[in-house]
Amino acid sequence: MTTGPETPVLARHAHDRLAHRRDDAEWVARAWDDPASRVLVLSENGLVAVGADRLPLLAAPGDVAVPGDRILLGAADGTVFFAWFTEVGALSREQTEGWLGLRDLAVVLDDLHVGLLTAAVALQAWHQRHTHCPNCGHPTDLAQAGWTRWCPNDKSSHFPRTDPAVIMLVLDDQDRALLGRNGAWPPGRMSVLAGFVEAGESAESAVAREVLEEVGIGVREVRYFASQPHPFPASLMLGFTARADGDPELKSDGEEIAEAGWFTRDEVRRAADWGDLLVDPTPAELELQPLHALPPAMSIARQMIEAWLAGHLVAANG
Ligand SMILES: [Zn+2]
Repeated sequence: MTTGPETPVLARHAHDRLAHRRDDAEWVARAWDDPASRVLVLSENGLVAVGADRLPLLAAPGDVAVPGDRILLGAADGTVFFAWFTEVGALSREQTEGWLGLRDLAVVLDDLHVGLLTAAVALQAWHQRHTHCPNCGHPTDLAQAGWTRWCPNDKSSHFPRTDPAVIMLVLDDQDRALLGRNGAWPPGRMSVLAGFVEAGESAESAVAREVLEEVGIGVREVRYFASQPHPFPASLMLGFTARADGDPELKSDGEEIAEAGWFTRDEVRRAADWGDLLVDPTPAELELQPLHALPPAMSIARQMIEAWLAGHLVAANG
């Protein structure tokens, strides 16, 4: 698969992950000693060291001679990239201009750097939460250049886990989109519905179950859209479109979803990016129009909404 203009922001990439090199400790050590290799330095709280341009610092391996874990991320155009998991205090003021998160950087990074940083953040979150063997409880060691963990007690390998979540743009027969407000968000901010896939459940079933649980309606024509990693800490967002089936009257669960509604393309087009919403709408404005802001460009929710507005969704024409 190649990255295209409609690829979700965090699904972009432009590097070879070099999976065939992960077991070759000699090759990895040589690549680390090569001054042409580059290193993304991550702090213990998932932030990446940035340079004067506020973009990820691409340090040479020799410049990060501080304690940390070394992860082989891959290569592009002959340059090998590593991640280095260390602490905020490990780099001097001369070495870095500061630390930023993937959420701050995602939309300004090019395909190569967003791909490298997303993988690094996902791996770090996994290593931090999986320090012990789930079979026997013994501490595990980082292995395969950072892509597995190894239990020396029962000789088992453990792989980075990814938790599937579904996110769905539901349309009705009048080509309106179902948007809801999570109870934790301020009034005016809405998005498509989402939820985790449960144990022993298909993604399509999870779409139907979540919509029924959150707003009390049925769906049909559940169709896959695209996916993007959401490494906060370990989700993979699986995007779907679906069509409302049966009675379209919404009954918000009042817990996860505080309110929900059907919105026309014009109403959705008028809503801002919620990062751009400088002043929260007044109660009178909310009475007239409950939708004022959409999720940020980094989200697959926003990608799905934009694809619908542009007329690129099959279900929208169905
Ligand atoms: Zn074990």
